[in-house]
Formats: sequence, structure tokens, C-alpha cells
Amino acid sequence: MSTSTSTISEEYVSTASRPSALRITDVRVANLHGVPFRSSIVRIDTNQGLVGYGEVRDQASATYALMLKSRLVGENPCNLDKVFRKIKQFGHHGRQGGGVCGIEMALMDLAGKAYGVPAYALVGGRFRDTVRCYADTPSLADPEAMGQRLLERKQRGFTMLKMDVGIDLLWDVPGTLIAPAGAREDKSTMHPFTGIQVTPKGVDYLASYVEKVRAVVGYDVAIAADHFGHIALDSCIRIGRALEPFTLAWIEDLIPWQFTDQWRQLTEAVAVPTCTGEDIYLAENFKPLLDAGAIRVVHPDPATSGGIAETKRLGDYAQERGVAMALHLAASPVATMACVHLAAATENFLALEHHAADVPFWSELVTDLPRPLIQNGEIVVPETPGLGFGDINEDLFRAQLDPRDPVFFAETTH
Ligand SMILES: [Mg+2]
Repeated sequence: MSTSTSTISEEYVSTASRPSALRITDVRVANLHGVPFRSSIVRIDTNQGLVGYGEVRDQASATYALMLKSRLVGENPCNLDKVFRKIKQFGHHGRQGGGVCGIEMALMDLAGKAYGVPAYALVGGRFRDTVRCYADTPSLADPEAMGQRLLERKQRGFTMLKMDVGIDLLWDVPGTLIAPAGAREDKSTMHPFTGIQVTPKGVDYLASYVEKVRAVVGYDVAIAADHFGHIALDSCIRIGRALEPFTLAWIEDLIPWQFTDQWRQLTEAVAVPTCTGEDIYLAENFKPLLDAGAIRVVHPDPATSGGIAETKRLGDYAQERGVAMALHLAASPVATMACVHLAAATENFLALEHHAADVPFWSELVTDLPRPLIQNGEIVVPETPGLGFGDINEDLFRAQLDPRDPVFFAETTH
């Protein structure tokens, strides 16, 4: 028998036991579609065989993540805050925040795996064992049909729902809108500048729509409303007041988030919780809205706001001002699990958006978590390291590759 003790194969050593020597060696992506939208999944590789997964925000370019590779290779992913501060200058509002945030999620996954703890433990532990999800629902012109769609989700166990209520319901109803020529096709002019006004008949139509939905769904479930359209503050106030009897969970994004004082005026004018934030990057940029008491619910998308730790900081800041935090998301289970850890660790968390209630294979995109992942409208906070799933489902990933750019963790030249 050999008496050599000079080498022991790495494969028999717990490589998760040397976090101080962990180094990032590569950053790669897989571009998926239909999960529910287009998403690039980030994989960070290391010198110890550990990999971490994150997700670039829906519909954003993978380039926002890949362009950070030169800043990441050689760094220790366990230095979460140091690495985040190094890369955060390369993010911005909306989809431009998607790369930094996807990387942050992957760093949290790696650090958790290196230390053998769930990601929530890296940001202070947890306040809850399950995370409440709310089901988004695509827009429908017929309120009876919308009511049935929401009722079906309620019967699947969701205790919170969201629907669209806005001027898209009014364009073909005579006498409900006053708008300049071309306004219907114009999706880029900001709300105060479109010149679109909702008439009293239009306000009544929207209130009647919500009343009919409530008649089907009942009043024992939370319902939020979104996508009111590019209308100015005065129309928003009149619609908000007309919706008061239906006890909505919140009305969302009626005004661009940049207009802090208009948000404050809306919030003071209506007795319905107001909500915005899905396109704001970094906690510091939420402060004007929160300091002004301009919203009742803050609604960051952790794939834009800064990932897990930065959004936890935002949640704590909002809590000091008496504002609840819900999470916007339209993602695969990868970013969803990042949000689950964030939600577990943030006391004023309200609910996490789920956009894939109609995607049957969605839970199977990752392994070693309950299927379906959402049961009775909730996700159980996992005890397993990092984001908590064992691995990605390679077969399903390959089946869902975006045909426009079907990259599967290929070598990059960045
Ligand atoms: Mg929204």
C-alpha cells in the first residue's frame, strides 16, 4: 500500500470550508424565454468548484451582467458589500440595473454555499417561515372574465391578486377619454405630458369594472390594481376616489416615480394605498418618496433595486417611515428565491409578485425545492445554503433557451 501523504484529491475535500480563499474565475449566462418572459440567468464560477446563480431582470440584456466580468474575476464573492460597492456604479434605473442585481444574487448564492448558510442568514436572519406571493393577471376587457381569472387564482390558494385597471379598457368606449391624435399609440410620453384626460363616464366605467370583479371574487382577498395608463394627476385623483369603496390593496404606478410631489398629492387625496418603485435603482433613490410621505407601499423590483442586501436596506428605511414593502418581480425561480430570502429577512415585507401563474413547468426550472414551489399562495423559506435550490434543471433550461440568442453558459470574451 502506498504511504504517500503528499496529495489528497480535491474531490474528497469539502471545498465549502475555505471561504477565505474563494475567488471568482468566470461569469456566464444562459438566455431563457417564457419563464415567464425573457430572462438571462447568471452563473458565477469559482476556483473551488462552487457556482452561484442570479438572474438579470426580465427583458434586460445579458450584457448588463457580462460587462461586469472584468471587475469580478479575482474577487472573493464572500466580500458581498465590497464587491457590490465596486460594481454598483455600472447600474442604473429600470432594466439597466438588471446586471448589477443579477450578480448580487449570484454572490449571495455563492457566499451562502461557502459558509453553508441560507442567504437570509447573511442579511440578519428571518422574520417568517413562509413568503406570501401575489398573482399578477393579464389584462382582460370583460370584468366578468377578469373576475373568473382572479377567482381561479384565489381557489388555488393565493390570498393576494393583481389586475390591470386603466385607460386600455376605455379606448374603444365612446365618451370616456379625451386625447390628442396619436395618443393611443404613444407609449413613451410621460404621464403629465400626454394630454389624455379621463371623463366622468370613463371614471364611472373603471369603478364599475372593479365593482363587477369584486362581485365575482369577493371582498375576502387582497386585490391590487396596476397599469392605469399615461394620464395626469387630476385624472388619477378622480379615479382613485371612485375606487375607494372596493378596498384595493394598492393602486400602482399612476404617476412616474420621479415626480415625488405629485405622488404626495395623490396619496393625500385618496383613501387607497398608493404604490410605486419597480424601476428605481438603489435604496438612496427611494428616499425622496419615503421622506415626503408620498407613498403607502414601496414596490422595488430586487432585480433593479440592488438585489438582496440593498433592498433589505431599503425595506428597513421604509419601515422607519411607516411604509410597507411589497416586491415587484417577473422572473424564473432563480430571482424568485433571491426575493424569498430578502422577504424572509425584512420585517415590513407585504407580498412578492408572481407573474408565472399560467406557466405549468415554472417550478421545475430548479431542483431540490417543493413542486409546485408556490403552495397555498406561499413559498416555504428554505434552510439549504445560498438561494436554496440544489441546481438548475439543465434539460428544461435547454428547452427554454431564447431562440434569438440561445446561449447556455457559453464562454465569454468580455
Ligand atoms: Mg407595475
